[in-house]
Amino acid sequence: MKKQAKVIDVSARAESESSFTKGVLGPLVGMGLTINRMVDNLTGKVNATIRYPEERRAYSDRYRGAHILTAREDGSPRCVACYMCATACPADCIYIEPAEHPDPLIEKYPARFDIDMLRCVFCGFCVDACPEEAIIMSRESELCAFTREETMWDIKRLMQRPELPEFGLGYRPNQTLVDSTVKFTPKEKEKKKLAGRVTLKEDVEMIIHVTFDPTKD
Ligand code: SF4
Ligand code: SF4
Repeated sequence: MKKQAKVIDVSARAESESSFTKGVLGPLVGMGLTINRMVDNLTGKVNATIRYPEERRAYSDRYRGAHILTAREDGSPRCVACYMCATACPADCIYIEPAEHPDPLIEKYPARFDIDMLRCVFCGFCVDACPEEAIIMSRESELCAFTREETMWDIKRLMQRPELPEFGLGYRPNQTLVDSTVKFTPKEKEKKKLAGRVTLKEDVEMIIHVTFDPTKD
């Protein structure tokens, strides 16, 4: 026998409420909440907006931003051109051309490794699939370009990331291993507490924007 759908009849409850509750108390509670929020905003207790791009919120360590190809001690890519990332990629935006590595223990290296950043959906599947921690993500999300060609990141662009000290590392499942292989000094950033009860549910740290100049490091 077909089970009867459960129907919640809200009209019955509304009818049982007194006219005082409906006509006076309800609007007063709503008005009190509005005034409470207004006072919080006026006194600076809640700051739901930031002055981007001068100020930025601090993203999580697991943020899935633009990719990084990690390097070995000698500066060569850790990637062994196994195609695991390209196979896992749902956007089909990784292109790899393998070549024979001079070290017989390594077998292959990527002679070419491109990511089409406009097709990428930043899902992180490539990072999960990589057996070598050769591809990880950063917290960089401000990608812009003047031409379509600039959105195709080649191996050089993926390995040399002057923006890294500014944004920091993002999603990397094996943090201990990756942090020992990626050498960079995070930029000192001024931080201040940003109350975000209205829109963010919790307090977050806000990072003051610092422009990174690679020639000075
Ligand atoms: S993040 Fe996702 S879409 Fe982007 S390259 Fe990796 S697997 Fe492909
Ligand atoms: S980045 Fe990782 S998964 Fe992709 S080809 Fe290189 S070693 Fe394989």
